[in-house]
Amino acid sequence: MDKLKFWQLIKPFRYLIIGAILSLVIFTNLGLVMPLMLKVIIDRVLVNNQLNFVFIILVTILLIYTIREIFFYVSRYMIFYISQRILFNVRTKLFRHLQNLSLQFYEEYRTGKLISNIITDVAALQQMVSASMVNLAVNLLMIVFIVGVLFVMNPILALISLVLIPLQLANFMYFRTKIKRGWMDLREKMSEISANLAETLNGVRVVKSFAKERTETRNFVSNLRPAMDVSMDVNMKGVFQWMICEAVNIICLSATIGLGSYMVLKNKMTIGSFVAFYTYLGMLINPIVQLSNLITIISQGMGSASRIIKLLDTIPDIRECENPIKLKTLKGNIKFKNVNFGYSGKTVVKDFTLDIKTGKKVALVGPSGSGKSTIANLILRFYDIKSGKILVDNHDLRQLGIESYRNHVGIVLQEAFLFSGTIAENISYGAKREVTREEIEQAGHKANLHEFIGNLENGYDTEIGENGTSLSGGQKQRVAIARAILRDPKILILDEATSALDTISEFLVQEALDNLMKDRTTIIIAHRLSTIKNADMIVVMEAGEIKQTGSHDDLIKEDGIYCRMYQSQEKYHSENIAEKDDETAEEADKPELPAEPNDFDGIPDCPAA
Ligand code: ADP
Repeated sequence: MDKLKFWQLIKPFRYLIIGAILSLVIFTNLGLVMPLMLKVIIDRVLVNNQLNFVFIILVTILLIYTIREIFFYVSRYMIFYISQRILFNVRTKLFRHLQNLSLQFYEEYRTGKLISNIITDVAALQQMVSASMVNLAVNLLMIVFIVGVLFVMNPILALISLVLIPLQLANFMYFRTKIKRGWMDLREKMSEISANLAETLNGVRVVKSFAKERTETRNFVSNLRPAMDVSMDVNMKGVFQWMICEAVNIICLSATIGLGSYMVLKNKMTIGSFVAFYTYLGMLINPIVQLSNLITIISQGMGSASRIIKLLDTIPDIRECENPIKLKTLKGNIKFKNVNFGYSGKTVVKDFTLDIKTGKKVALVGPSGSGKSTIANLILRFYDIKSGKILVDNHDLRQLGIESYRNHVGIVLQEAFLFSGTIAENISYGAKREVTREEIEQAGHKANLHEFIGNLENGYDTEIGENGTSLSGGQKQRVAIARAILRDPKILILDEATSALDTISEFLVQEALDNLMKDRTTIIIAHRLSTIKNADMIVVMEAGEIKQTGSHDDLIKEDGIYCRMYQSQEKYHSENIAEKDDETAEEADKPELPAEPNDFDGIPDCPAA
């Protein structure tokens, strides 16, 4: 992993880290006096019968442990503070970065997997930062100090008993890579599972309507089982590692007891020294075990940190130019000049030239897949064009500051996306400044929402659930329109804004849209041509190219796709109404209604021409 990047994460806290380590050194050192005190008690008090010495020793112990407590508090406070601040910075950076990444990035990356990776990676990093900082420093220091003390006390015994350190190290090294690989495998499997889970839950309607619950459960289980096996395997490797660690310890301790007893009997060591030596050796086990756990935590954390850094290093495809023009106001004139564009190599928009005049309503129509939404995406600069130019108020779109430009653009999609929260919060979401309740209600009024909201017990403060589950399609759409009204954009994009609605909701929404469209440059994408009859200009697209332009009245006179499409839709509607009238007369043997034609394929030639 990129050490430099990791260093940048911790650099702002380097002085605090030095302070934390210093207080840890003091805390650890003070913990090592107890066995020494034992030695003094045994060798001086017990052997020489000096009871008055006990009092001094007890006071010293109390004093030392009080100071140790203070340093315990200081060191832990500093460490937790540092680790939380580092994580705070990482989370903020990640969130900001994710907002800046282009739609292309999100199309390539499955969102469920992304979320799971971020959550688990940040959690692993958190564990690593806090656990490793506390434990790594404390345990390493403990080992170094204890080894030092043991050598001072009895070099020969120390040499023999400390064979345990290289043995334990070999044990950890052996299992380390295996455990690490297992964890990585498990992480990958779990994020796949999370991604599938998120997708199934999002598509729960589809799953249920196709009665696929059992298939989905089977898929889920078949993914879950290998993850369980890997998890079991990794955990058992940890258990083996621990068992070997214990065995090595017992062998070394036994050897020390044997040799120590011999030395005491031969008067080469005092009883006090022997007890102290043994106690110190016992104190060595815990830090070694803890270090072995740390190896896993650190290897997980390092993996996570490198994934986070890689994500942070993903360069946003859509970048602001060096000295962007920050527009305070916008007239709303959009010019496409010979624009070519495609997603990942496939050309979708070809030699597209169009002048959308300030304040005009321009409708884009054409078969699905002809590139209408792509034009809307290009206007929003969700993608950059391959060649040609898009000019907004005669500035190249790429020269404009992205945020300041998008602040002047509003969009209403086929499916309104609402956040959980109240209706008022959702309406004010897009506003460029703080808005008053009055302004929110005015927007609600213009969006034909007032009556519906008036009937709700909590009015504008009604909670709407995740993505507005408690609202109908038309109501959600009108909330989205109120949001756009409050945003007051100069350029407005309506992407099939009414096509998912029934006739009554469509009427209410259409009225709301008419209010919204006043005095704005509006690009309307629609397949129901009756809704765009009074657009100032209709652009007919096919396979990414402009085939016809003109007003409805002009186009209906031309022999072309528009006329054919219009007549076919008219025919469908009149038949549909006639069918409905018949239905009331004779209920039996209802013929299937043909699907509403929204494509241009297979439509007969236009007789009007
Ligand atoms: P329309 O709005 O007219 O239905 P689109 O602009 O959505 O058409 O799509 C035009 C073409 O581009 C289609 O062939 C579609 O499959 C393709 N397309 C749209 N979005 C993407 C994308 N994000 N990645 C790859 N191809 C895309």
